[in-house]
Amino acid sequence: MKSKERMQIPFTDMPTQPPQVRAKNFREVPYGYSEEMAIQEANRCLNCKKPKCVEGCPVRVPIPEFISLVQEGKFLEAAWKIKERNVLPAVCGRVCPQETQCEAQCIRGKKGRSVGIGNLERFVADYERLSGHIPEPIRVSKNGKKVAIVGSGPSGLTTAGDLILQGYEVTVYEAFHLGGGVLVYGIPEFRLPKSVVQFEIQNLENAGVKFVYDSVIGRIRGIDELFTEDGYDAVYVGVGAGLPVFMNIPGENLQGVYSANEYLTRSNLMKAYLYPEYNTPLLTGKNVVVVGGGNVAMDSARTALRLDADNVYIVYRRSREQMPARLEEVHHAEEEGIQFRLLSNPVEIMGDEKGRIESIRCQRYELGEPDKSGRARPVPIEGDYFVLNSDLIIIAIGNKANPLITMTTPDLEVNKWGNIVTDELGRTSKPFVYAGGDIVTGAATVISAMGAGRRAAMAIHEDLFPTTEVKTEGFTIPKETLEIKHAAIYPKTVYLRLNLINSSEKELDQVKIRISHVHDFFETTMFETTIPRWSPGEEHEFDCPRIDKNEKEYLITINDLHGKIMSKIIVAEEVKR
Ligand SMILES: Cc1cc2nc3c(=O)[nH]c(=O)nc-3n(C[C@H](O)[C@H](O)[C@H](O)COP(=O)(O)OP(=O)(O)OC[C@H]3O[C@@H](n4cnc5c(N)ncnc54)[C@H](O)[C@@H]3O)c2cc1C
Ligand code: SF4
Repeated sequence: MKSKERMQIPFTDMPTQPPQVRAKNFREVPYGYSEEMAIQEANRCLNCKKPKCVEGCPVRVPIPEFISLVQEGKFLEAAWKIKERNVLPAVCGRVCPQETQCEAQCIRGKKGRSVGIGNLERFVADYERLSGHIPEPIRVSKNGKKVAIVGSGPSGLTTAGDLILQGYEVTVYEAFHLGGGVLVYGIPEFRLPKSVVQFEIQNLENAGVKFVYDSVIGRIRGIDELFTEDGYDAVYVGVGAGLPVFMNIPGENLQGVYSANEYLTRSNLMKAYLYPEYNTPLLTGKNVVVVGGGNVAMDSARTALRLDADNVYIVYRRSREQMPARLEEVHHAEEEGIQFRLLSNPVEIMGDEKGRIESIRCQRYELGEPDKSGRARPVPIEGDYFVLNSDLIIIAIGNKANPLITMTTPDLEVNKWGNIVTDELGRTSKPFVYAGGDIVTGAATVISAMGAGRRAAMAIHEDLFPTTEVKTEGFTIPKETLEIKHAAIYPKTVYLRLNLINSSEKELDQVKIRISHVHDFFETTMFETTIPRWSPGEEHEFDCPRIDKNEKEYLITINDLHGKIMSKIIVAEEVKR
């Protein structure tokens, strides 16, 4: 099919439950694509020579490759292609903010709508799960090292998935009775069915990861004891940012005010949404006010609606365009009848003589000059207030780090917000302790937590098996130009991370990176890419699947614009010390 024809195919909308029906049930909102719809949407992809979409993906999913497989109807192969880089595609296809990541960069989107990358990711991941054709987990011989993961959110699960493939004994400690972190206790069933998350956890269990539930590290054991008593060689802390932030306004202690965290945990994890089958106490209200404009606020509002509220209001101090929630969630919330009170902020909660809330007073705002982030600053309008009657108020203005682990591990450096300080690969101030996800960045996204988990798995491997041999030869420009940050051979991929430290501050143009076999006569190329412009201080990472798993040495050639060899690196299979 020619590009011109592809450009003419309209975007394939995903069918959903009608708003009036779904607002009264907890079943998933979108039904998903049929096979025909998926092929039609995949055919909109231009298979660009220099695809931008991949650059927008924090874990570098090979997007054009998987979409090409969908075009050919090879759905299982497409799912496996994604899984080379992303262990939770069914989750990411549903909850990633694609509109600000891969789809924002999609070249097709310059004229019309971007390719529905998230929809396609979700389709192939579901196809694989429902087909039952799940590949047998790769059995890797044990390398003799044990790693403890604290927290089973997306970052912990990703670290666990990567390390088990490298022969580690991996145990995940989780405070709750179920794994998945926010994916199960925060995001509601109608957006991310629990069965999808449980399936991914089951896959990790099948691959050999051990899960220990109801275990709060910092209470049952400290980080130090994991090393001294349990004999772990490394610990990864992926405990998220689960401590709710409140507004500190009068009346916030009245009965009927919940943090979004508590409200959603009671509904999702403790299954209040399945009342009367589960008898979890949860106040329900007829007039509900949710404060905040992110995904957490949308999830709380839509949950309240499904728990029989008549009126649900979102009160948010900025404008609609500035809402951090995914576009789809805002759109779905509006369709379901959630009422938005934008450019408004609560100043006081009023209650009755029994201490129960009755109403909330809000001040109107207007947009002023841009703040540091470049967004127009919301400015209160003096004397302009309104009151909303409410019998349930949910505060969803953010979360911060829970201090339990850091308080019980004093040699773990934290910043002023209580987040653990790490280097770019997740190494903390404490040897062999790594951290990633929301506990490092503050509340962020699923995919960024997964990216952090992956980088930490690399750091753990690099530190526990520090003998990956890297020989460089053939530099024709000053050696300090390119710094090898990390080069390694993993069971499934060859990985290279380079930093340009060009002291003359010059950019390099058209830098070609090639990874090839050393021992075969033809030096078979496994991977080739060109960086059009590489600025000093910029890091690039490359990894490519190994074609022949028996190959132990790889040649990495880096050429400049004129084809002159800047560097030859030979990476040899790591040797256990
Ligand atoms: C309601 C809600 C909706 C969201 N929607 C989206 C969305 O649509 N898209 C998106 O990209 N992001 C969304 N996010 C953000 C995203 O879910 C988080 O950024 C992500 O889950 C962070 O992953 P994590 O692994 O760092 O931590 P978490 O997912 O928070 O997992 C941490 C885990 O550690 C456990 N834990 C904590 N302390 C201990 C301890 N001491 N011992 C043992 N275990 C411990 C916790 O119980 C938890 O299971 C949402 C967040 C919320 C709250
Ligand atoms: S940028 Fe868009 S059109 Fe190009 S390969 Fe990626 S998804 Fe396809």
